[in-house]
Amino acid sequence: MTLSHGRHYLAIPGPSVVPDSVLSAMHRPAPNIYEGELVSLTERILADLKRVAGTGGEVAIYIANGHGAWEAAAANIVAPGDEVLVLATGPFAHGWAEVVRRLGGRPRVVDFGRRGPVDAARVEDILRRDGDGAIRAVMMVHVDTATSVRSDPASVRAAIDAAGHPALLMVDGIASVGIEALSMDALGIDVLVGASQKGLMTPPGLGLVWFSGRADEARGSRPAPSAYWDWRPRVQPEAYYQHFCGTAPTHHLFALAEALRLLLEEEGLESAWARHAALARAIWAAVERWDEAGTMRLNVPDPALRAHGVTALRMKAPFATRLREWLSERAGVTLGIGLGMAAPSDPAWHGFFRIGHMGHVNAHMVLGVLGAIEAGLVALDLPAGEGAVSAAAKVIAEAAAVPRS
Ligand SMILES: *Cc1c(COP(=O)(O)O)cnc(C)c1O
Repeated sequence: MTLSHGRHYLAIPGPSVVPDSVLSAMHRPAPNIYEGELVSLTERILADLKRVAGTGGEVAIYIANGHGAWEAAAANIVAPGDEVLVLATGPFAHGWAEVVRRLGGRPRVVDFGRRGPVDAARVEDILRRDGDGAIRAVMMVHVDTATSVRSDPASVRAAIDAAGHPALLMVDGIASVGIEALSMDALGIDVLVGASQKGLMTPPGLGLVWFSGRADEARGSRPAPSAYWDWRPRVQPEAYYQHFCGTAPTHHLFALAEALRLLLEEEGLESAWARHAALARAIWAAVERWDEAGTMRLNVPDPALRAHGVTALRMKAPFATRLREWLSERAGVTLGIGLGMAAPSDPAWHGFFRIGHMGHVNAHMVLGVLGAIEAGLVALDLPAGEGAVSAAAKVIAEAAAVPRS
């Protein structure tokens, strides 16, 4: 029989769960797009987005997904012929490099594998050899959503500075903004890229690009980007429509405003980071127990380098696919596919999956996913270490302990 009827949980790393109040905020007639409420709402959203990213710089909103935000960021900085250094810890950096290539830029990809972070010493070494400063920017992905590796932007900033190199630091924060500690100005990030559908709990459709004064100066030193991607009119519009180079994404803005209220007012940004960290630790604790029987393994061995909003896992093929199918058909949980770990035509592809735990996710949702995985392992007759769900519950109990009076 199937036990999937009830509220389905899409536990993939984006689009993430949309809170009911965010859905409700969209359920209303279209507003005037020339004056009134939408104009002041937009000002508030821009201010809140700067708080979320920890910056005194600017933020431009594009009607786009993450790929669009990648292109927006690159189009303002990389002119045809420009060289950039792209640091890869999984497929997403390769994707961003491809966007740069199609814009006529010359990305040089340094691959750090799929189970560990960027090595800043190597970056420093490469930049020191670039004596005439031809490398225009260093581009990196803070959290690679496919591998669940987190790299440290501060170490890359330090490498750029130690080499005395003028390159800008551009960071893809799509899977970390609103999820884990990330403060653009404190980390010395010049351009930060985000999207609405991950930690920001809003449907896909808004691409975000934060940029420093230094990045804006760099934009000015090159031929202006195409009209749609140019970030200047979006942050210094003469008329409201220029914020979006056309009609505003009205209902997405209502949604985002409510999501930012939940994040900044109702919970608090640092509390949201702490929540994600605790829930991630609960998942790791469960997987470590299952792994005692060699059933499944965390892709990132070092806990300090694991993302807090997504966990990539390895199993013997084809059991990851079997487990995913059992959970979605029988238990009402959709897990993420393994992305970029093997070609979809390769039988090894069926040995990877991911748990998304970003955004509007709490203790019972994570325990529910883990309990459903445990049931799936039993149903599929896979050997697994004992006590995984209890181990997760213990982490959650400790993190959410009631203070003794
Ligand atoms: C999801 C994601 C993207 C791509 O976003 P799309 O909206 O699918 O285009 C890029 N980078 C990271 C780190 C992501 O998590």
